[in-house]
Amino acid sequence: MDYQKLAELLFPNVTMTPEELEAKYPPRNVPEGAVITRMAPSPTGFVHLGNLVQGLTSERMAHQSGGVLFLRVEDTDAKREVPGAVEVLIDTLKHYGIQFDEGATMDGDKGEYGPYRQRQRADIYHVYAKKLVQQGMAYPCFCTEEELAAMREKQEAAKETTGYYGQYAIWRDRSLEDIKAQLDAGMSWVLRFRSTGDVSNQFKFNDLVKGELTVTENNIDQVLLKSDGIPTYHFAHAVDDHLMRTTHVVRGDEWLPSLPFHIQLFKALGFKLPKYVHIGPLMKMDGNSKRKLSKRKDPELALTYYKKEGFPVQAVYEYIMTLLNSNYEDWRRANPNAPAADFKFSPKKLNPAGNLFDYAKLCDVSKNEIAKMDAQQVYSLLLEWAKEFDPEFGSKLEADPDFAIRILAIGRGGKKPRKDIATWAEAKPYMGFFYDEYLEAPCFDEKFDKTVIRSALTKFLERFNFQDDSNTWFDKVKAITTELGFTTDMKAYKADPTAFPGTVADVSTFLRLAVTGKTNSPDLYTVMQILGYDATVARIQKAITLL
Ligand code: GLU
Repeated sequence: MDYQKLAELLFPNVTMTPEELEAKYPPRNVPEGAVITRMAPSPTGFVHLGNLVQGLTSERMAHQSGGVLFLRVEDTDAKREVPGAVEVLIDTLKHYGIQFDEGATMDGDKGEYGPYRQRQRADIYHVYAKKLVQQGMAYPCFCTEEELAAMREKQEAAKETTGYYGQYAIWRDRSLEDIKAQLDAGMSWVLRFRSTGDVSNQFKFNDLVKGELTVTENNIDQVLLKSDGIPTYHFAHAVDDHLMRTTHVVRGDEWLPSLPFHIQLFKALGFKLPKYVHIGPLMKMDGNSKRKLSKRKDPELALTYYKKEGFPVQAVYEYIMTLLNSNYEDWRRANPNAPAADFKFSPKKLNPAGNLFDYAKLCDVSKNEIAKMDAQQVYSLLLEWAKEFDPEFGSKLEADPDFAIRILAIGRGGKKPRKDIATWAEAKPYMGFFYDEYLEAPCFDEKFDKTVIRSALTKFLERFNFQDDSNTWFDKVKAITTELGFTTDMKAYKADPTAFPGTVADVSTFLRLAVTGKTNSPDLYTVMQILGYDATVARIQKAITLL
């Protein structure tokens, strides 16, 4: 077979050479050891936690080594493409602090190694496709869908490996005349790789996350170019990662089964194999067993979920870092205020089997992050969230910023700051009672006589002085307790609960319910100070009328 002729027949218009492309995209001028990596998503519009895990891993590896992180859009599958998906992706990752140095951006491409959208690179792929044909490493296959389906059925019935290989690779060694006849008849074709692999051979491969793997050679003649001339992921990533001078491919481990083919392809193309970082899946506990997070079953897989729930960006970031590098948490404890970038991230610390996503742990991390913020910062972030997801609450926060900030300042600062909320969505249930519209009617414990409650509330109103400090205020509550025959001696009450109708804690609860509608609230004295004299009195009076 004259491969040169075949190549001209298949790619008559390709005049560029691999050498010209090599010269156009020279090795990068970066320091020794710099990691050049990329995110290479398909623009399906769904941005998920896995993207963030991959993004963060790549970003850390690139930037902590003085390297480059770029964004390449893998849009070869037009059927899966959703308009605006690239913008959503760029925006979402930026929201989480992942910034690209080059690649596809909101306003076109930026960088010397583009184009960064695969559909715009068809000419480049064809140069290498032609080269492979010239070297006898690729050939056209004219099998129809029906023929391939029939082949598959036959293989399945015979319990054989399915695919295009061995005796099934019917176009592998066809004559130039046969091929020419098909082309002349206008038959459509795909370009296949001529595999020289043998499944009885295995070899060792070192993945930066998975460690040493034993890999079986590939013997399938995989498709390189589809019938429309658009490459498959396999071929496109090999050409792109070579020409874009990627040193590390960080991707999901669903690509591991294709790895033997990818290794073959790099070799056939004469490219240096990049290092691979195959990340395991994110899992969750479902009953007693672990399973992968699923797009269909688990809303928490989508990154939009965290925005909607109102997890601060920093909390999600910190949590993912904790998940990826087990020593991050200790480091953070020792360096509570250091920028995350000071931590030495290592892909080797990633769990090869993937990570268990723990929602409760995320909430804990988030509570800590929010507790570290000052009231003004909490106010700004909460307001930003509320404007989008609870505009009514947002307008209340905005109407009186000082009032909201005083509320948010309760228990903040100091050695043991309060950790009341994990998300902005939890803010309204926590602090909503400060606003009359969200105040719930008190629901007093029926074991207490209404006249006793009324009496406690009335007595409080009679001596409530807004100027009192918290000790004087509490002395008054204690005095009322005693007057009602309740006790302030918690020990005595514990020893014999039948000896008293109730305690100072019960009297406080009457007041708390009247003022906040809840049995649980931040310090009641402080709550009254923030609410103001008139509002406090009005609330207690109203509670009395409801009794
Ligand atoms: N387009 C592939 C995907 O979305 C990218 C895999 C890779 O990063 O190489 O899964």
